[in-house]
Amino acid sequence: QYIIGIETSCDETAASIVKNGTEIVSNVVASQIESQKRFGGVVPEIASRHHVEQITIVIEEALQQAKLQPSDLDAVAVTEGPGLVGALLIGINAAKAFAFAHQLPIIGVHHIAGHIYANQLVQRMEFPLLALIVSGGHTELVLMKEHGSFELIGETRDDAAGEAYDKVARVLNLPYPGGPEIDRLAAESDDEIEFPRAWLEPDSYDFSFSGLKSAVINYKHNLEQRGGTVNPAHMAAGFQNSVVDVLTTKTKKAAEQYEVKQVIAAGGVAANKQLRTSLTEAFSELNIPFYVPPIYLCTDNAAMIAAAGASMYENGVRSDLSMNGRPGMELVSWSK
Ligand code: ATP
Ligand code: MG
Ligand code: FE
Repeated sequence: QYIIGIETSCDETAASIVKNGTEIVSNVVASQIESQKRFGGVVPEIASRHHVEQITIVIEEALQQAKLQPSDLDAVAVTEGPGLVGALLIGINAAKAFAFAHQLPIIGVHHIAGHIYANQLVQRMEFPLLALIVSGGHTELVLMKEHGSFELIGETRDDAAGEAYDKVARVLNLPYPGGPEIDRLAAESDDEIEFPRAWLEPDSYDFSFSGLKSAVINYKHNLEQRGGTVNPAHMAAGFQNSVVDVLTTKTKKAAEQYEVKQVIAAGGVAANKQLRTSLTEAFSELNIPFYVPPIYLCTDNAAMIAAAGASMYENGVRSDLSMNGRPGMELVSWSK
């Protein structure tokens, strides 16, 4: 079974072919990071224009790298939401045209289901499973009792982890995207500024990062008003220690409470080296198998969309040509 995945929800134009939901046959990502850098973030209009320019090339390239014809494929999986509506629509329209031209079923995939299913490309899921999703727009703990079943047990009440990374990076005058820059600076740092941790209510699996972000901004402001100069590395280290500490502690507690057989991390912030190390150590102590995909499968890609699409395909889920971009789409279970 071959499924082509298409992803255009933000600033990556991507297409990929995945075999049996687990094996990457081709994986093409055209990133716009260089052009977004100049604006310090993603400008929706510019993102859409890039997607239009790249989408056909990326799909052709995915087929070529796989040495497959459209007639070899079983379905087209495309990100239906959430994301920028203009960006989503370019992938969706390309997917519809492709599916119609080649008489293939089309499946609309939730972007976060994609991030979770990136793990299927490295390790078979075992249930019950706890997924920590940390990305540019989401910070969630999701419990899965079987394929396609998602139970939200905690989420951010304000900023997503990636959003906090990008905002703090801006304050520190680091280039976009801020996550990898802070990751690098923190690793080089020989000291840290102590920043608060938002634990919220003792039994809550929710997160909050806006207080931490404000603490970082205030610290810099106060120091500069007194004529001091900040040490960006010390600030990056303190910020990252706070984020990683809270994410690790809450994920550990949830994994124990729900007695899961496997824990996975997903999304762009799961590319963070310190977070990967911290979670790996925590779960090796608890003797719970922990997996996180390689970095190129943590950040946005289409292989993860094809992998989630494959599971939906197996479950008989189909969309049709009336599919529309859904910027605020909710993650709903597809298992019956
Ligand atoms: P969502 O998936 O929630 O719709 P998105 O697709 O924009 O949002 P991703 O592409 O999954 O988000 O992840 C991008 C985010 O990951 C950015 O905020 C970026 O700064 C962050 N990120 C990438 N690499 C790292 C890293 N090494 N450390 C921390 N954050 C990182
Ligand atoms: Mg992105
Ligand atoms: Fe994403």
